[in-house]
Amino acid sequence: MEDDGDGREPKGGGVLKETAGLYVHVPFCGSLCSYCDFFRVANDGAAPGWFVTYIIKEGKLYREPEPITLASVYFGGGTPSLIAPPDFARLSEGLREIFAWPCGIEATLEANPETVTREALAAWRSAGITRLSIGAQSLQGEELSLLGRRAAPSDVRRAVLLASEAGFDRLSLDLMLAIPGQSPGSLARTLDEVAAMPLDHVSAYMLDLHEGTPLYARVVAGGASLPDEDEVADLYEQLCGRLEASGFLHYEVSNFAKPNGECRHNLRYWRGGDYIGLGPSAHGCFRGERTNNPRSIGEWRAALDRDEPPYEITAKVTERERFENSVIFGLRLAEGIKEETLASFLEAQGRGPEQIIGQLLRHGYAARRGDGRIRLTRLGFLSSNSVIEYLLPKDYRA
Ligand code: SF4
Repeated sequence: MEDDGDGREPKGGGVLKETAGLYVHVPFCGSLCSYCDFFRVANDGAAPGWFVTYIIKEGKLYREPEPITLASVYFGGGTPSLIAPPDFARLSEGLREIFAWPCGIEATLEANPETVTREALAAWRSAGITRLSIGAQSLQGEELSLLGRRAAPSDVRRAVLLASEAGFDRLSLDLMLAIPGQSPGSLARTLDEVAAMPLDHVSAYMLDLHEGTPLYARVVAGGASLPDEDEVADLYEQLCGRLEASGFLHYEVSNFAKPNGECRHNLRYWRGGDYIGLGPSAHGCFRGERTNNPRSIGEWRAALDRDEPPYEITAKVTERERFENSVIFGLRLAEGIKEETLASFLEAQGRGPEQIIGQLLRHGYAARRGDGRIRLTRLGFLSSNSVIEYLLPKDYRA
């Protein structure tokens, strides 16, 4: 099926070709941040060259006589910008021999600020990277050091400037909310700088404290304290207001974009499009099956050494699951969902839609858009997990 890269079918018909997003997980990081729960390992220096060889080997499992056409590519991690430029060129060439990688599709690379150099930027551009997502989290030194980030604020500023000078006009910055010690004043200073940067996208996630991380231990021991619920709500309100005033559209709970700056790869996930996942811990959803790769570099590599797929097929995607996901992910987007879709889902649970939807509208969690769709408000976005749980209780889900 050919689409416009975000999981929706093309406007105007024509011959339909199958497309997929491609996600590559690169699990190496220069050092481990104090809050991080992703699958990653510490690796001081460049990512090992053998890793690229194995990713290409895994990609070959998807080689077909009529190559699968990529709609978007995303190198995430970990720290994919730790792949040395010659290895990155080899990776891009290897993937292009397996998949049809059309010229100009969105291809994102996550980059940590301290790894951004002129040489690396030139290599990424010539390898077909069109978009950089720079992991900043904050522009305040104390906040970055509490998070155990390698980069200082000056590294973030320098990375954005170099990327812009290198011609990357699709530039995203990751920010974090609810960092211990973060105040309206410190957030305002970060946002003032962000607003002046040449960015077309900002992602802002709440700090999630995970048991087993150094930051968790520090908070439990009383060495750092998290903002309370009201403070977090105020920080979120402040962030949304400041970014919207700077020309960003709040298009998903945690994502903001200038016009046409939306991340098309992530839109594909949220709209239920197919994607292939390569690398340890990567997930995929392709041709009706969900796949999970092992969260172990050794197991992933051993399966490929045996010429076996490293993934396990965890589920067949059912119509009911597709429908539920379209409600859950649709409500996380500013475009919302058709009210009649939500109503029929509630009816299928034996619940009265008027009363439930009415509650959300009355309490300000949702609003009607005027085109038959219903969307969450900023308050609804802030409480999106609870709102979705209220609409789709876990024991009802497929
Ligand atoms: S750089 Fe990213 S993936 Fe690596 S440890 Fe830090 S937060 Fe985790």
